Amino acid sequence: MKPWLIEHQQRLSKQFELQILPHAILITGVQGAGKLQLAQWLMQLLACQRPSKTQTQDGTEILQACGQCKTCLLARSDTLPDHLNLKAEKNSIGVDEIRFANSFLQKTAQLGHYKTVLIEHSEIMTVAAANALLKTLEEPTDNSIIVLLTDDIEQLLPTIVSRTRVLSVRPVVGEALLRLLGDGAIELSQEKFVNLTQLPELTDKAVYEDFLLFKQIYLNFIYNQQDESLFLQHVLNNQHSLRWLEQITVGLQREQLLSSTEPARVKTQDKLTAQALHQLYKVIINGCKVIKSYTQANKQFVSEQLIMKISDVVEQTQINKQES
Ligand SMILES: [Zn+2]
Repeated sequence: MKPWLIEHQQRLSKQFELQILPHAILITGVQGAGKLQLAQWLMQLLACQRPSKTQTQDGTEILQACGQCKTCLLARSDTLPDHLNLKAEKNSIGVDEIRFANSFLQKTAQLGHYKTVLIEHSEIMTVAAANALLKTLEEPTDNSIIVLLTDDIEQLLPTIVSRTRVLSVRPVVGEALLRLLGDGAIELSQEKFVNLTQLPELTDKAVYEDFLLFKQIYLNFIYNQQDESLFLQHVLNNQHSLRWLEQITVGLQREQLLSSTEPARVKTQDKLTAQALHQLYKVIINGCKVIKSYTQANKQFVSEQLIMKISDVVEQTQINKQES
């Protein structure tokens, strides 16, 4: 469990014991902050027939699901009839899905004590869906708990927010984050600009490995003009790709700057000039803006265009080099 989630677990454990848990909980925080992890811990606790107290490393007492009772096993295999996980089918959560969740909550629990609904990315609810949910939030059914997650609370209707208990998951940043995460974060810290936007890479090893692979493919593309289709696939299919493109390009600019102000330093990245990198950065920033504004169906086209523009910048540099 991410260390900054513990205080939330502690408070929720107390409320669980006293049976004063809020009917609707909204967990907000940046990507990688651990919203889903916290929600899943709570859902498992609510499903369990004999939860027990455990101590965290710093001696804090929190409740945990036993992991062995019948309802725990069902919850683990995602087949607990008292829990509903609402995920977006396309790019939005529609009114029908929310109505289904509402009627699900109306029924009494079949096996356990609670009925639970988890709505991930609640900010993509349509207005009609949000209004349908509002009714349930205003008149909650007994022993039902709705947990909403969002990384952009601004996009939610204020009336929704005001009817939920907001839990803001705030990870520590910078040096403190690196200390907490230990060795795993050290490699990334050598990239010199650890900040909150890099949280998924820092706290999730698989995402970090994806990042390294993505970087390798991107660099190979701009330095050697190789593997264009592989690069396109990664841009299209990785949810972090646009952020990484910006981030890696800024990193290249920094390296470039350092190597030009420190003459003694070995120039490792002199294959692209400062001017070319600046152009590349502009192309990427604009391209990413356009891609973000498109729906999934049209992303392929605008992503291909971005890659063509990157390719143009790089090819122009090669031509300039040969001429000089
Ligand atoms: Zn259990």
